Amino acid sequence: MQREIIKKLPKVELHCHLDGSVSMEAIKRLAEINNVDIPTSDIELRKKISVSKNCRDLKDYLNCFSFVLPLLQTKESLTLAAYDVLKQASDENICYIELRFSPLQHMEKELSQKEVVEAVIEGVKQGSHDFDVECGLILCMMRHRSEKENQEVIEVARQLANEWSLAVDLAGDEARYDTALFEKPITIAHNYHLPITLHAGECGNQKNIVDSIRFGATRIGHGLTMKDTMDIKQLCVDHKTHVEMCPTSNLQTRAIESIANYPFMEYLELGIPVSINTDNRTVSNTTLTDEICLLDEYFNISYQLLKEVMLSSINQSFTSDDKKQKISKLIDEAYESVV
Ligand SMILES: [Zn+2]
Repeated sequence: MQREIIKKLPKVELHCHLDGSVSMEAIKRLAEINNVDIPTSDIELRKKISVSKNCRDLKDYLNCFSFVLPLLQTKESLTLAAYDVLKQASDENICYIELRFSPLQHMEKELSQKEVVEAVIEGVKQGSHDFDVECGLILCMMRHRSEKENQEVIEVARQLANEWSLAVDLAGDEARYDTALFEKPITIAHNYHLPITLHAGECGNQKNIVDSIRFGATRIGHGLTMKDTMDIKQLCVDHKTHVEMCPTSNLQTRAIESIANYPFMEYLELGIPVSINTDNRTVSNTTLTDEICLLDEYFNISYQLLKEVMLSSINQSFTSDDKKQKISKLIDEAYESVV
């Protein structure tokens, strides 16, 4: 495949964190608005907000979030950031993106969880209108936060589900906090009929994948730790559990040792639906086009396969059936010239 063609084709992304994906230009603007000093040289600033391609250290990865989060604590800042990520998506012809964030991470100043989500909705409303990108939002519970706080994430998702397409996720330190600890809030979300995707099998126990499916997740983020366990892979096949794969991020955090061992083709061949994602555009210094090129380099993907991945991604997205149909048709037509 050719990079320029990949970039032009309509694409779907399901796993992208807002706080890890704010562009350098937007970060400069946010620093100005918030009166925060940041490095004046682009090279120095880049070091603060992105890990280098060679860097393979989780601590460095997390430091980038500590840098950007203080800039995302007001309504104006959150609206601007959400708008900025939709612009980036549109720049590489993403036609549908699901953007995720935890309202709990943006309450350092005066905002309530609900106000955080409303500010992001405002940004994606403007962005999807201006850039012609469809967008869904996913609210993340955090593994290190209290049950009460996480239950409130679910309540806010339910309250605002009429305003915008909202789903729920569980993010944070998987190695320290097993998914089973969050059965209660996840079950509440399930009972509210909120769509559920959970980070599972990125670095933690592979039982987290089993529990995620058991608690009602139809998708999981990463799903790498089941790589060598046929029973769990079969469980995903049987449940059609979709795995959101994020290759560059997984290499940077050492969730996987090399791209050659990445189970992308293996999952597909087994019949596990997968999507290709950036995880964090700025922190990982990547785009969806980059991620597809990376996989193509090692696995020699055809346009036909890419089309199938995009169609199955939109099919397992959390948008309405109408939008799924509309976007599938768009993909079908656009890929006709290359397959
Ligand atoms: Zn993630």
